[in-house]
Amino acid sequence: MTIADTLFIMSRDLIAQRKGYFMTNYRKLFTYFLRDDQIHEDELMSQHTTFGIGGPADYFITPETEKELQQVVSITYQEGLPLFVLGGGANLLVRDKGVRGVVIYTGGIRGIEKEGNLLHVASGMSTCSVAQAACRYGLSGMEFAAGIPGSIGGAVYMNAGAYDGEISQIVESVISCNQKGELVKRNNENICYRYRHSIFMENQEVILSIVLKLVPGVAKDIKAQMDEFNHRRRTKQPLEKKSAGSTFKRPEGHFVGQMIEELELKGFSVGDAQVSEKHAGFLINNGKASCADMLQLISEIQRRVREKYHVELNPEIQIIGEE
Ligand SMILES: Cc1cc2nc3c(=O)[nH]c(=O)nc-3n(C[C@H](O)[C@H](O)[C@H](O)COP(=O)(O)OP(=O)(O)OC[C@H]3O[C@@H](n4cnc5c(N)ncnc54)[C@H](O)[C@@H]3O)c2cc1C
Repeated sequence: MTIADTLFIMSRDLIAQRKGYFMTNYRKLFTYFLRDDQIHEDELMSQHTTFGIGGPADYFITPETEKELQQVVSITYQEGLPLFVLGGGANLLVRDKGVRGVVIYTGGIRGIEKEGNLLHVASGMSTCSVAQAACRYGLSGMEFAAGIPGSIGGAVYMNAGAYDGEISQIVESVISCNQKGELVKRNNENICYRYRHSIFMENQEVILSIVLKLVPGVAKDIKAQMDEFNHRRRTKQPLEKKSAGSTFKRPEGHFVGQMIEELELKGFSVGDAQVSEKHAGFLINNGKASCADMLQLISEIQRRVREKYHVELNPEIQIIGEE
């Protein structure tokens, strides 16, 4: 064995030991207020993203109440651990090395309540199920969101939108949890909404619940409109493939899909990462794409668009994880 081999084994063992120490201690901390089966270690993020891509999260925590979520947030920050909030994983590209620290999955935080024209919704509810509930209650205003995958918390964070509608138009107020675990209430005008942007992208707060303000409507008409939007989606978007929706934000005065199509990049691929044949604005994972493949595809598209159109394409998807 060479000196280099010995040094390599020593440093590998040291890292393993440190990781083991890190893991055991923090697991114990969370067990004070969570069941054992709510704390997962080395959970593959590829199982929790619509891209089907992403390495392991050190800790993957699944709170089931707002109180539990608050406790996880405050302990995680107290201990100085990095924290990431995962909704439906429908707008995420997670790097192959995975996510260090804690990932909180909000899917267990559920509940919806009607109060006149208001809907009080827990952040882990899926956006589609909230839109369907609004329809059942005869409340209009959420039809545009009927086919947007992911959680309502994620939609509020991203200011998700479609068909001329945007979440910002129907949010009355939001309750979030700050880094000290304290609750903060914000009305719409304090959320700093603009295109695919909200204040939560800057302040690291975790959205717990949302009040949506809708208007009375006729359930049959609301459903017809939602069906029509969903039909349009099915015909235009590669919903049968693994994707995260539109990869890039819309640059002013340009259409992303059109530019990529004109560059004849439909079907262009790096490994299993491919520009959809059906909708050039969607990048898809054809099976075993890695994050590295997807990032290479993204930067190649950006390069060619820059060269031909002098336009900078910025990702709409959130790219996270260890580089
Ligand atoms: C087929 C397809 C079609 C799509 N169509 C559209 C569309 O028409 N319009 C559109 O806008 N988007 C669309 N998307 C993208 C995606 O559905 C939206 O961005 C969605 O709102 C993301 O929600 P999520 O819960 O999946 O968020 P995630 O992907 O889990 O997370 C996205 C970001 O939100 C943050 N986040 C999530 N929950 C919380 C919370 N409770 N508190 C704080 N931060 C949080 C995360 O930390 C992350 O930074 C599409 C995606 C797919 C796969």
